[in-house]
Amino acid sequence: MRALLIVADGMADRPIKELGWNTPLEVARKPSIDRIADTGICGIIDPISPGVPPGSDTATLSLLGYDPLKYYSGRGALEALGWGLKVGKNDVCFRCNFATVDENLTVLDRRAGRISNDDASKLAENLRKIKISHPSVEFLFQNTVQHRGALVLRGSNLSPFVGDSDPKKDRKQVLEVKPLNSSPEAKFTAKILNELTQKFNKVLKSHKVNLDRVRRGLLPANIVLFRGAGKIPEIKRLHEIYNVKTACVAVTSLIRGVCKVAGMQLLNVEGATGTPQTNYLAKAKVAIQALKDNDFVFLHVKAPDAAGHDGNPKQKVEIIERIDSMVSNILENVNLDETYVALTSDHTTSCVTREHQGDPVPVAITGPYVRKDEVKKYGERSCAKGSLGRIRGINLMPILMDLIGKSEKFGA
Ligand code: ZN
Ligand code: ZN
Repeated sequence: MRALLIVADGMADRPIKELGWNTPLEVARKPSIDRIADTGICGIIDPISPGVPPGSDTATLSLLGYDPLKYYSGRGALEALGWGLKVGKNDVCFRCNFATVDENLTVLDRRAGRISNDDASKLAENLRKIKISHPSVEFLFQNTVQHRGALVLRGSNLSPFVGDSDPKKDRKQVLEVKPLNSSPEAKFTAKILNELTQKFNKVLKSHKVNLDRVRRGLLPANIVLFRGAGKIPEIKRLHEIYNVKTACVAVTSLIRGVCKVAGMQLLNVEGATGTPQTNYLAKAKVAIQALKDNDFVFLHVKAPDAAGHDGNPKQKVEIIERIDSMVSNILENVNLDETYVALTSDHTTSCVTREHQGDPVPVAITGPYVRKDEVKKYGERSCAKGSLGRIRGINLMPILMDLIGKSEKFGA
């Protein structure tokens, strides 16, 4: 027995006026997604707990069975891991932005004119040569996509309890990084970050890539802003908990980071640069293949969340219909006599508020021995009538592991 968990990021929504007070899931044509509900057991999930709007990182931890209230330790480290940086358990990580500032360190553009990957790579190369005045600390800096990047601080006496230098808004001054508690470690870490801010700024100001950008009428990327200090969560890996072989199919770095911490093998999807359609089918193909030699496969799809943040319900409906064709491909190609397929969302992303919300998300699990219920269609309200009832995010993984015979008896 094996299990596939499909998580459609932010797919759940609230009723929307322009959809006749339906949700995108309720109006989308999605025969294969509905088949999971129709042949399976349905319910709703509070990813964290009722009314708490989850981040994708905390929600994914939860869906993998880890209580985020206990284990979450910031986004920076998860994202750095997801980008393939080697992060040790004592390293302190940050999310970074290349930005544009004036001489007074007032931020003119937090994204440095959405600098190209190419320019950012050349700048990052020189930043890596900078030395910190304390030889006990070293750093890794990696640009990722456009203005984004990751910073890893390594050494003794470091703390993740430091504030951001990123003011998170244009026309505000770069913040001095402050310790968030009274420990000498937090004070020391803040000092290192302030030193890096200045040293990065000095190198970037006169870098030929930036001089050239100014000549071309582009904004120079003359500072790096730091935010979201964190360490990797100290958790037992899935194979240690359930004795399972696991793999993850995800493109988003944050999700890849969470899966990496959980000890999953990260698979790459070829053709991820194609149209959304080919991307989904490529993902389905990798997941189907992965199910041949894994007990548990996690498949993540990012697109519905973006449609929610854009406040575009029509687009969300279209994306759900494309996900349906991915699900169709999966249901046709896996052996449903020995595979459980579960579909859920990591959180609600409302097309009206354009934010993550604390509403529960639908879940459906199909497979050989589920106690099929009366629910025929997959949706926020229909699944609420299912016999799985209302569960917490951290309950899902034990349920799946029990179905595939990988859970241990509690008691004699
Ligand atoms: Zn999400
Ligand atoms: Zn989101």
